Amino acid sequence: MSGEKGSTGWVPAVEGFSTNAIHAGQEPEQWNAKMIVPPIALAVTYKQQEPGLNSGYVYGRLGNPTRTCLEKCAASLENAKYALAFSSGVAATQAIINLLKAGDHVITTDDVYGGTNRFFRQIAAKFNLEFSFVDFTNLKNVEDAIKSNTKLIWVETPTNPTMKVTDIKAVSEIAHRRKDILVVVDNTFMSSYFQRPLSLGADISYHSATKYLNGHCDVLMGLLMVNDDELKKRLYFIQYSTGSLPSGFDCYLVNRGIKTLALRMEKHQENALLVAKFLESHLLVEKVKYAGLPSHPQYDIMQKQASGCSGMLCFWMKGDLQQTKKFLASLKVFMCAESLGGFESLAEHPAIMTHATVPAEHRAMLGISDNFIRISVGLEDADDLIQDLDQALKSGVSG
Ligand code: PLP
Repeated sequence: MSGEKGSTGWVPAVEGFSTNAIHAGQEPEQWNAKMIVPPIALAVTYKQQEPGLNSGYVYGRLGNPTRTCLEKCAASLENAKYALAFSSGVAATQAIINLLKAGDHVITTDDVYGGTNRFFRQIAAKFNLEFSFVDFTNLKNVEDAIKSNTKLIWVETPTNPTMKVTDIKAVSEIAHRRKDILVVVDNTFMSSYFQRPLSLGADISYHSATKYLNGHCDVLMGLLMVNDDELKKRLYFIQYSTGSLPSGFDCYLVNRGIKTLALRMEKHQENALLVAKFLESHLLVEKVKYAGLPSHPQYDIMQKQASGCSGMLCFWMKGDLQQTKKFLASLKVFMCAESLGGFESLAEHPAIMTHATVPAEHRAMLGISDNFIRISVGLEDADDLIQDLDQALKSGVSG
């Protein structure tokens, strides 16, 4: 490879998402044995030649060679200068909240992931942080919510679970009228393949890498991507001081998962579009929301800020709670389970499962009702997925 050594430490000879996903941070020359695949580094401590004279690695919390490979690779996916890995998405949420101090105010999308909502309301609020849950589909709500102590705007787009889309560029412009407000975008539902929040003005691109980035439903991880040197320093300090770090093995797996991200996302999108169209035409379905369909209320924003759409969609079936539960229990190819973004198709009932800890009146306001279902369309054959949904809908409503 040739060219200038880039800020992520690798030599960007070829541009292109998959080339980066496969090669960034993976140079065999960094290992004596010239390994094509990075090793799984398990050591928690490293020999120092004399006190203070070390190889660059000192202690596992401060750095790990497999983690470095992953972080460089992940940064390259969004043309970011840096990426930082955490032991779960929620651990990365905590790290961001640790940037704040008591008395600070956060504005967040009203329809954030249930675990984020729970963390904000039930953990962070205990430390005298203030949260405003706002509908970001009307930007006036965001402008009106800004106060003198606002320090962070937390965007999740599309939202989990009702798939609301926020204009990242517009929110970043509103926030950055002030120098002291950071914009975080939870990019989990789109993955770095379809959406790059930093290039739209956000300060931090956030991922539950547990989902699409890993893609195989066998690792919990959070990844943050940033460009600002000072912000990276602060997050790195929090990362090693609080210690919510992934193991070398987990880093190895996510680094491997990223290699096929582009292929997987294309197939997730292809399948989801077919499934969404099928559901939209089904007599037993009340409404479908897929951000890749023109019927989505913020379709024009999606077209502007993303290059495609993932496997995530939601719908309201024509039925009551019992019928909806029966639908979920009747699925044979889809599995009724929490999580998303893996190769397998999953379906779930947010009111009972992922979003059960969101206060009932808040759920009702968002439309997370008894007949509301979230699905993660996987990589199986689309015909099998469609047939499965059809038989489960009929069986749910018939009995
Ligand atoms: N953000 C979103 C949109 C999620 O869906 C999730 C988990 O489902 C998280 C954050 C939290 O990630 P993790 O489960 O890896 O802690």
